[in-house]
Amino acid sequence: MAIGQNKVVTMNFTLKDEQGKIIQTTNNNSPFQFLSGNQQILPKLEEEIDHMIIGSKKNVKIPAKEAYGEYSEQAVQQVSKNNFPKDIELEVGMEFIANSTKGEQMPFVVKEIKNEEVTIDYNHPLAGENLEFDIELVDVRDATVEELQHGHVHGPGGHHH
Ligand code: ZN
Repeated sequence: MAIGQNKVVTMNFTLKDEQGKIIQTTNNNSPFQFLSGNQQILPKLEEEIDHMIIGSKKNVKIPAKEAYGEYSEQAVQQVSKNNFPKDIELEVGMEFIANSTKGEQMPFVVKEIKNEEVTIDYNHPLAGENLEFDIELVDVRDATVEELQHGHVHGPGGHHH
């Protein structure tokens, strides 16, 4: 039986890149929770979890194009230092959010600073990475009316107000 929509799904997971390097894990932490059918996790991952049984484990491999996309050279751009607030000491690795002309928020990271020229990267930090998840499905329950109204999970491991 599929988990379906609007359930609170509790799981443990370890996310690794292709080289087996751990990117994120719930080990030694509270399990992760999400509201199913609400685009809170990668669609491909949710599809795989949908058919899991509580207490079971699964290894899920997700290629970059179905995860955070391929790495795009076009998303790497050069801009002048003048575009940044004067009171900020720019450093490589700093993250900012630009607003597109359409009003979308576009996060980027500073990759390189050369004199007055700054190289910025709009790629998601995990773009181009083939990902591997080790999943353990811990629990599935119905979401409360309040959780559905808010669009997120409440209580332990979830949102606190
Ligand atoms: Zn809430």
